[in-house]
Amino acid sequence: MSLSQAKIVVMGSGGVGKSAITVRFVKGKFVAKYDPTIQDFYKKQVDCGGEAILLDILDTAGQEEYSSLRDQYMRDANGFVLVYSVTSQASFDDCRTLREQILRVKEKTEVPLILVGNKSDLDEERAVSEEEGKALAEEFGCLFIETSAKEDINIEQTFMDLTTKVLEEEAKN
Ligand code: GDP
Ligand code: MG
Repeated sequence: MSLSQAKIVVMGSGGVGKSAITVRFVKGKFVAKYDPTIQDFYKKQVDCGGEAILLDILDTAGQEEYSSLRDQYMRDANGFVLVYSVTSQASFDDCRTLREQILRVKEKTEVPLILVGNKSDLDEERAVSEEEGKALAEEFGCLFIETSAKEDINIEQTFMDLTTKVLEEEAKN
């Protein structure tokens, strides 16, 4: 079993649950109130098809502000988790801009990316349907999943699907 590393960046507009998803995945718990200004790194080792992969995860914050750290990290990143909240049309629309930003920084037309519709537990407040999410992912040519950090739905799956995609991509090069 070889040990390799993958750098993952979690992006999306404020309040969509980037920190909740990251902390749920890394620490296995739901933190209802997380400082929205904190941008932090996390590490977690996963088993991906018998291969041990050390995931280096950056939970971003404050999309508007210029962050050279984030730009550098995006440049070096192997995969991206692009999050919106199913309760917010605006956060869904923001995904287009963020993806363009990612492609610009990476100087690529395609990168390993998973589009994530979080807060699937809030079905009564839903503003974006699963079909709309799927359609955008199809347009992007990327992976898609709906999650709930609160109810622990598809969080592990999100990172496993993305890691698998990252490894497939690395194998091509
Ligand atoms: P960030 O700004 O994208 O990092 O968002 P946070 O992780 O700080 O979450 C913003 C708010 O949404 C907090 O009040 C969280 O408790 C809440 N939240 C995050 N994920 C979920 C979820 O899956 N379901 C529900 N109901 N609330 C969530
Ligand atoms: Mg946060």
